[in-house]
Amino acid sequence: MKLLTYYAPKNIKQLTEFLSTKKTGAKILAGGTDVVIQLREHKIDPECIVSLKFIPELKGITEQADKIIVGPMTTFTELAESPLIRSKAFLLAQASASVGSPQIRNTGTVGGNIANASPAGDTLPALMALNAVLTITSDHGERQIPLKDFYLGIGKTKLAADEFVKLITVDALPATGGSAFIKLGRRNALAISRISMAAVVGYSRESNTVTDCRIAAGSVAQNPFRLHKAENVLVGADLTTAAVAKSVQAACEELSATLGQRASAAYKKTAGPVLVHRALNQAISQVYDNWTQQA
Ligand SMILES: Cc1cc2nc3c(=O)[nH]c(=O)nc-3n(C[C@H](O)[C@H](O)[C@H](O)COP(=O)(O)OP(=O)(O)OC[C@H]3O[C@@H](n4cnc5c(N)ncnc54)[C@H](O)[C@@H]3O)c2cc1C
Repeated sequence: MKLLTYYAPKNIKQLTEFLSTKKTGAKILAGGTDVVIQLREHKIDPECIVSLKFIPELKGITEQADKIIVGPMTTFTELAESPLIRSKAFLLAQASASVGSPQIRNTGTVGGNIANASPAGDTLPALMALNAVLTITSDHGERQIPLKDFYLGIGKTKLAADEFVKLITVDALPATGGSAFIKLGRRNALAISRISMAAVVGYSRESNTVTDCRIAAGSVAQNPFRLHKAENVLVGADLTTAAVAKSVQAACEELSATLGQRASAAYKKTAGPVLVHRALNQAISQVYDNWTQQA
């Protein structure tokens, strides 16, 4: 490994200024659980490493009206244990708790998970189901991109070389809503997902209909994506077994169309709809739990 220049800015201004001068030569370091391996395996060869570790503004979880704002340097452990995330974005706590091992969860960050753009990034389907929007910053200013529009393929995003993820904003779960994240790996611990599914369901007791349904799949295509047809089947319907079955059928068609003929397709075409069914049922059971608690 060659000797690299290392820079650790203390605030966002220093970071943006540094990235604007370095352009393509700098590699951002968050927890390093992906970057260090990529360096070791000579998959990347940056001129310098710029660490986000000492920038306090990039860490933490706050609530603003019906939104939750997450700093990209927040670790998986912090997300999994946050009372705010557990009560208002439960599936993100579940997804964070499912990552790697305790060491990886204590070090790896949600910003790193997003920017690494792996098809199997565990927080990505959960964040997509929470309508995550990224605030992207550079010396030229700030822009916002919904996470579902952020990806351009495996390891590829719309981030320019001088930009970084400054904030992640998600919708808090509806008060009468429920959510679930489910991951299938080759084993229970320290396993990259073979397929994952995230679901959010909102329900109105006044109209007795589903007001909101968001489903996102991971490890199915180059990047996680939303299952809009399956979502649309459920929105406006009552929470019946038949409505859920119709939604799962629509999901089955969307997943099959995306999977095509690749080697893992047969397994994922079978496992995918089962996960959609389980995720919807888990989310719906939380809807019922919320009713009983509020009654
Ligand atoms: C043993 C092991 C097990 C793992 N298991 C899992 C698993 O089960 N599930 C899973 O999803 N992942 C897993 N990972 C992958 C990794 O831990 C995650 O992708 C993690 O989120 C990366 O975060 P990090 O903070 O370590 O990022 P880093 O490695 O520091 O950075 C990752 C990428 O993101 C960029 N980056 C980081 N922060 C920003 C930012 N704010 N703005 C712009 N770019 C940024 C970096 O430049 C780099 O390209 C595993 C890794 C290891 C080594």
